[in-house]
Amino acid sequence: MAFPIKVCAVCEEEFELKPGKPGYANRCPECSVPEVTETTTKQPMDAVDRKSESEANEARRQAIRELLYSRK
Ligand SMILES: [Zn+2]
Repeated sequence: MAFPIKVCAVCEEEFELKPGKPGYANRCPECSVPEVTETTTKQPMDAVDRKSESEANEARRQAIRELLYSRK
């Protein structure tokens, strides 16, 4: 199946515009990468949130485990 050939607005390389291609439709996958890295720069904060969340879950699980064991 052939995809429409587009010319990248940034590097002027031809590329296949595949459905669901991330980034701009007028940019080749390589030139769409900056957009991807831009979102990953936000990840450290998310990672911290996720870490503290998992720590909270772990503490909750530990408390439940202690409750279960103290009943026996
Ligand atoms: Zn390009």
